[in-house]
Amino acid sequence: MKDLFDLIPNAQFSSELPADKEEKNYNRQVEGACYSFVETRSPSNPEIVHSSKELLEELLLKVEDEERFLKVMSGAEKFKDFKAFAMCYGGHQFGHWAGQLGDGRAINISEFEHEGKKFQLQLKGAGPTPYSRKADGLAVLRSSIREYLCSEAMHQLGVPTTRALSLVKSGDLVPRDMLYDGNNKDELGAIVCRVAPSFIRFGSFEIFASRKDSATLKELVDYTIKHHFTHLEGSSKKTYLSFFKEVVERTKSLILEWQRVGFVHGVMNTDNLSILGLTIDYGPYGWLENYDPEWTPNTTDVQHKRYRFGNQAQIGLWNLLQLANALYPLIQEAEPLQKILDEYKSGYLLGYHEMMCAKLGLYQVDLVPVKLIDEVSDQMKASEADMTLFFRELSSKEMQEFEQFWKIIEEVSYLDKSELRLQQENWKSIHKQLMSRIKAEGVEPKERETRMKAINPKYVLRNYMAQMAIDAAERGDNGLVDELYQLLLKPYHEQPEMDKWYAKRPEWAKHKVGCSMLSCSS
Ligand code: AMP
Ligand code: MG
Repeated sequence: MKDLFDLIPNAQFSSELPADKEEKNYNRQVEGACYSFVETRSPSNPEIVHSSKELLEELLLKVEDEERFLKVMSGAEKFKDFKAFAMCYGGHQFGHWAGQLGDGRAINISEFEHEGKKFQLQLKGAGPTPYSRKADGLAVLRSSIREYLCSEAMHQLGVPTTRALSLVKSGDLVPRDMLYDGNNKDELGAIVCRVAPSFIRFGSFEIFASRKDSATLKELVDYTIKHHFTHLEGSSKKTYLSFFKEVVERTKSLILEWQRVGFVHGVMNTDNLSILGLTIDYGPYGWLENYDPEWTPNTTDVQHKRYRFGNQAQIGLWNLLQLANALYPLIQEAEPLQKILDEYKSGYLLGYHEMMCAKLGLYQVDLVPVKLIDEVSDQMKASEADMTLFFRELSSKEMQEFEQFWKIIEEVSYLDKSELRLQQENWKSIHKQLMSRIKAEGVEPKERETRMKAINPKYVLRNYMAQMAIDAAERGDNGLVDELYQLLLKPYHEQPEMDKWYAKRPEWAKHKVGCSMLSCSS
């Protein structure tokens, strides 16, 4: 296995795309360029909190010099032969065009191609860039733990995502107004090293379209196709439409995966949507506990709940429409773009139906009425059923008799028994329909259990779990970060010794900051 520090960077992005001519680091509008060269800041006392051995192994790499690893992953030392840079992009935030945003606190520190895999390394929280606007370019331990653990957990769940290689404390204090109530508090600074084939976002294209800079737009589109959609060829309208179609497909699949595991991104602005269909920018995200499509963890969005769980597919489409608008100058025809967007709607509904059927252990999808899926969702909501526990229990427990089924509902519901009883008749009807379908399909029970358990995770990073790891780490104890990291390496496996994490959210976590309320200020 090769050592990470023996790799020779290929710097594809920065050698093939136009750079900002200014190399001084101050806030500015950057035109006609895809990125600005910038140096990472040296932290005062870096200390490793965790690193992903699994990711390193997947990349077929090793690291011998741990001291150097810490220095590079904290921004104190550079990769040789690579000029670090921050990317320029724009975005629609909460439905409104926000102009230039860019990597305000992310710096790409290297780019490689190794054993047929392309990947970039990016430090989040390693200091200001020309895109930092009024902010400091830093990140705090709290949000960095959340990004680090969730990126790796999502990957193990099989959800496309950017990865995280390391989590480092900087040794600096970073002031944050966590609840936007005017109270700044000094928090521990931290830096995550993210890894992905590319960090290009929808907003990367929007910025050039908004500036009517079709030349740079075309360069970026051609670059993206050449390196990341390699099966598409040329730079014709047809290629661009195929490219768009594939981004639509990937975005649709990604959102279906979020719905499958109960993940709410929280800030689906167009600058936070990856062109590769990866989950990117872990901020005020959350996991559904009591099933509620209206829920969003993001306090900034409580009023309109634009990015609520049940609206993610709709927002995906809205964001794709913005991307279509951005690509329009290269295509000059609205109709084929619209046609692809229309296919998203029907494709999503079909995919959703299929996915929910599979979660329930039903495979003759055409014969399962849509109404049954809606009834299950409505009842999960009315009964405040814990989403993860509900599907996992259905995967593993006997439920031929209604009494057995009802026992599951009682166990996974957050309601007290007297309240829950009001839902019993509805559940009876669902049980009857489910049983009749299961019988008709005749899948062998063991086979059905195996298939269900492979898509209904047992362990997810519940909001309170991340918060407990944060509280401990802020006191200097990283044990829980590691425990959760290890647990989430195998989210579909039975891990009986870890069963304390296979449980409903504890009462104390219901309204606690960090568990049910999160802000972007991180
Ligand atoms: P987000 O909603 O976290 O994706 O951030 C939106 C924009 O704000 C992006 O351009 C970020 O780079 C930028 N940003 C967020 N936090 C900071 C920070 N602490 N310093 C500089 N830029 C930031
Ligand atoms: Mg972002």
